[in-house]
Amino acid sequence: MTADIIDGKAFAATVRARVAEHVSRLASLDITPGLAVVLVGEDPASQVYVRNKGKQTVEVGMASFEHKLDVNTSEADLLALIERLNADPAVHGILCQLPVPDHIDADKVLAAIDPAKDVDGFHISNVGLLATGQKAMVPCTPLGCLMMLRERHGSLSGMNAVVVGRSNIVGKPMAQLLLRDSATVTIAHSRTRDIEALCRTADILIAAVGRPQMITGDWIKPGATVIDVGINRVPNGEKTRLVGDVDFASAVEVAGAITPVPGGVGPMTIACLLANTVTACCRANGLPEPE
Ligand code: NDP
Repeated sequence: MTADIIDGKAFAATVRARVAEHVSRLASLDITPGLAVVLVGEDPASQVYVRNKGKQTVEVGMASFEHKLDVNTSEADLLALIERLNADPAVHGILCQLPVPDHIDADKVLAAIDPAKDVDGFHISNVGLLATGQKAMVPCTPLGCLMMLRERHGSLSGMNAVVVGRSNIVGKPMAQLLLRDSATVTIAHSRTRDIEALCRTADILIAAVGRPQMITGDWIKPGATVIDVGINRVPNGEKTRLVGDVDFASAVEVAGAITPVPGGVGPMTIACLLANTVTACCRANGLPEPE
């Protein structure tokens, strides 16, 4: 029997529809949630992400403010822009697309964003709030993964979860969210011993590594739910194609459920960004937040 395919594209559409509903309720109060996206330089992948974010922001009825800055923009000028966005009441969410050019300190930029407007959830205050189980802005990619897991399993309580990858933007917050939902969580990384055997203990396996098709079917416990966060561009004849960190063809034969790449985690990430912006807007206006 092959695994159920978790359709992130369809799920993201339902999340966006819920966001749009909330936005229209806010419109009746004369409130428009606004998302500012800052891009420094011309990284092609970042340009695509920023374009998609802007398009989907407008589609759900929110205001989109795009700030595309020259690659040579100084750190001081970028920080000054963030200060202006922090002070702008029309802006409820701010994100600075990473990576930033080498002459800019990404940590300094993330620290400059008002934590209440930090819809990426990367500010140290939000990281700390999440780690201590308090109300935080939660990073979008792990939040999207969690939503798909809850949809599939209902409760994650007591399940064994293995997160492969320990980055600040995916692996660590993913582990925190799983822990918050009472899963038993192990984080694996490049120094983990016998990682295949560890992965085979997982009821929930999250792959956030950045290595094309590293996790094959024989790493997977039969029936496990596999969430593939990886987005890797690999050669495909004259062209290229996207693959995940999981070898889909062998994994689908073993897993109980699996996210495809593309069409799994990716679309959920932007949907969660929109949801976070509405949440930030509601909090700023003292209104009840969406579920
Ligand atoms: P990072 O490069 O920041 O982190 C990768 C992690 O994988 C590190 O913790 C690293 O371990 C670990 N790792 C690397 N090689 C191995 C290995 N051979 N065995 C075990 N662990 C290994 O990546 P990100 O977390 O930023 O992204 C991960 C993937 O997710 C990428 O493909 C990225 O494109 C994708 N992504 C997708 C998003 C989406 O919206 N779908 C959003 C963000 C990212 P160590 O710490 O020891 O070096």
